[in-house]
Amino acid sequence: AITLKGVTKAYGEHAPVLRGIDLDIGENEFCVFLGPSGCGKSTLLRIIAGLEDATSGDVQIGGRLVNAIPPAKRGVAMVFQSYALFPHMTVEENMGFGLKLSGLPADQVAVKVQKAAKTLQLDALLKRKPAALSGGQRQRVAIGRAIVREPGVFLFDEPLSNLDAMLRSQTRVEIAKLHRQFAQASTVYVTHDQIEAMTLGDKIVLLRAGADAERFGSIAQVGSPLDLYRLPNSRFVAEFIGSP
Ligand code: ATP
Ligand code: MG
Repeated sequence: AITLKGVTKAYGEHAPVLRGIDLDIGENEFCVFLGPSGCGKSTLLRIIAGLEDATSGDVQIGGRLVNAIPPAKRGVAMVFQSYALFPHMTVEENMGFGLKLSGLPADQVAVKVQKAAKTLQLDALLKRKPAALSGGQRQRVAIGRAIVREPGVFLFDEPLSNLDAMLRSQTRVEIAKLHRQFAQASTVYVTHDQIEAMTLGDKIVLLRAGADAERFGSIAQVGSPLDLYRLPNSRFVAEFIGSP
């Protein structure tokens, strides 16, 4: 589970981009951060991952306060929009890299990589280098690199946006499957696509950017896809979700 309390973020001397974010994400919950460009979705995800510090407020993961804990020790795995794979390494080496770094013996790394490769149907591609893969296969390797660590929290930042429509729907199904496979994992998934949000999310956190006078992002509404669709709490939510 993830809990955010009063999270505020300002970059340097700039006005805050997020303010007063309170949120609970349960175990086994697939939570989507949805909202227009610039509203702070990636910033909030990076704060959970530990890649950015909150300016104020608390982040708890699994009941533990992690404000001062570095990303590698938070038990989270993050998949980005641009899957930066190491070009000189094979698929197998790319997927096992983090485990190897953490000091796990090579034979155990191999077992975990095999298991993840099977899940993602990458078994036949383990000896290839990224240059010899399609975009969708590369993105699966990037996902594989995250799941080999068997994290309690999966963080995805627009993982489908570089894929064509066909691969997008395939990979979307795979991500949903992955979440269900890891019993007790919390997944947080960032997108600005309401269709993606509605099909994947147990819970949607709709963020909005501030008005001109108050340039900070905040939560417009939290709820199930159906809640937001049927009971939007504002015109902004109704328009963003496409409620009748
Ligand atoms: P998008 O859908 O376009 O990815 P987003 O919702 O993910 O947008 P963020 O990337 O979190 O938005 O950015 C939120 C705000 O913070 C934006 O106004 C952005 O310009 C600003 N911002 C992001 N990173 C920095 C930074 N390193 N320094 C200063 N401002 C930043
Ligand atoms: Mg973003």
